[in-house]
Amino acid sequence: MTVYRNYINGRWTEPRSGRYVDNVNPATGEVLGRAAVGTEEDVAEAVAAAKAAFARWRKVPAPRRAEILYRVGELLRERKEELARKMTQEMGKVLPEARGDVQEGIDMAYYMAGEGRRLLGYTTPAEMPDKFAMAVREPIGVVAAITPWNFPMAIPTWKIMPALVAGNTVVFKPATDTPWMAYELVRIFEEAGLPPGVLNLVYGPGETVGEALLRHPDVHLISFTGSVESGRHVNQVAGAQLKRVHLELGGKNAVIVMDDADLDLVEQAVTWSAFGTTGQRCTATSRLLVHEAVYDQVVERLAARAAKLRLGNGLDPQTDVGPLINGRALEKVAYYVDVGQEEGARLVVGGRPATEGELARGFFFQPTIFADVTPDMRIANEEIFGPVLAIIKVRSLEEAIAVNNGVQYGLSSAIFTRDVRNAFVAMRDLATGICYVNHGTIGAEIHLPFGGMRATGNGHREAGLAALEVYTEWKAIYVDFSGRLQRAQIDEVKIEDIG
Ligand code: NAD
Repeated sequence: MTVYRNYINGRWTEPRSGRYVDNVNPATGEVLGRAAVGTEEDVAEAVAAAKAAFARWRKVPAPRRAEILYRVGELLRERKEELARKMTQEMGKVLPEARGDVQEGIDMAYYMAGEGRRLLGYTTPAEMPDKFAMAVREPIGVVAAITPWNFPMAIPTWKIMPALVAGNTVVFKPATDTPWMAYELVRIFEEAGLPPGVLNLVYGPGETVGEALLRHPDVHLISFTGSVESGRHVNQVAGAQLKRVHLELGGKNAVIVMDDADLDLVEQAVTWSAFGTTGQRCTATSRLLVHEAVYDQVVERLAARAAKLRLGNGLDPQTDVGPLINGRALEKVAYYVDVGQEEGARLVVGGRPATEGELARGFFFQPTIFADVTPDMRIANEEIFGPVLAIIKVRSLEEAIAVNNGVQYGLSSAIFTRDVRNAFVAMRDLATGICYVNHGTIGAEIHLPFGGMRATGNGHREAGLAALEVYTEWKAIYVDFSGRLQRAQIDEVKIEDIG
């Protein structure tokens, strides 16, 4: 059984608490390993190491920093299958999806390694003669990367890699449900030759270890992915100290199905984006807004398909849908099914935990669809984060867009249509950070900006070039080589004086 210790200043260290917690396979209940329970003192030590390492790391040429990332990408690629299998055991997603999660880390490593030879700033003319003006990107300092369990490889790499290539140092606090993936990732950075202190890992609960990072004066940037409730708290605490705060929060993503849509494609795509990762993706489709002309057909097709999905251990190639992450998640999903029924929605398939045979050992819930949902119902507004789809009937594209935009979240949206006008109106008017045409709401690529509007975040974006805006700040530099005092905005520049 693996024991996952903290990693501070290049050493795997015991937590000051001396305590460890079990890492449990959500499909089987098997204990996979034991993870350190970090403390405030561990955080203080990790931040001190990151602060000390920053002094040198910021001066290492970015192309050299990038070489280490490139090597991390190579190691992830070599170990992709092994890591994916461990991930499936640790958090339950089916193996092909776990491979995809590791692949996002590989993609991000190569992409950000490329940034090491760009990190572009710009030069621009100065308004005075014999003067040079430029804007360059500077690292920010010590970054706290606080991550959820649902993409235990991808999300940490989305934060750590741009942070490091830009010259920051990092203290990483992973979710308590996925310590194994964090351990494997940090080990790979160590093997790739990252100097001590540049990346540190502290395990432990959000309320203690996470909180200590929010409050530590030497942490300059909090990069946080998690729920709206936690994000609001992070923003209040870290924002009050004027730290930079980057938030990626929840979603209540909708797919619009127009009367001219390809319904075979809708059936496949919606099943995938509603029930893939057991609905535990921030971009999962949890609302389906269907034009009245095809409503009955769509409900019927999706219900039939959901009823056939096979639940089980994600390592089994026959499995379509794995378990939920833990008992609390199972209770939350069951709670929302009760809420939906009380609100008068029509339960067309699923609705109960799945407990037949082997399934009784894990946290399985039947893929569930509610029809005749109205936009004001709680199940149409609140993030359930499980295999539950709410279907709403709409009469027009305009109504569908209004319903899509009527929730507090604004992460991902999609439209299925064959009409180019519908597509372009939707692309213009859907108020989400990600928008798909003829594809479900999941499946973002790492070189585009990722994130959402309204309560899904605070305006920053992860991934793509946009990530560099989070992990760098601008410095404007003026070099006056005129040899005299030139006062911008005050001294008039006379063209005839220029020789
Ligand atoms: P969570 O908010 O419970 O936890 C996320 C992380 O924050 C964990 O590491 C947790 O320990 C830590 N944390 C909790 N309280 C904290 C505190 N007071 N101070 C500092 N850290 C604290 O979320 P979760 O259940 O792990 O993840 C699911 C949520 O994440 C869903 O809402 C989902 O939509 C969201 N999510 C968003 C994105 C995105 O990019 N927008 C991606 C994946 C998941």
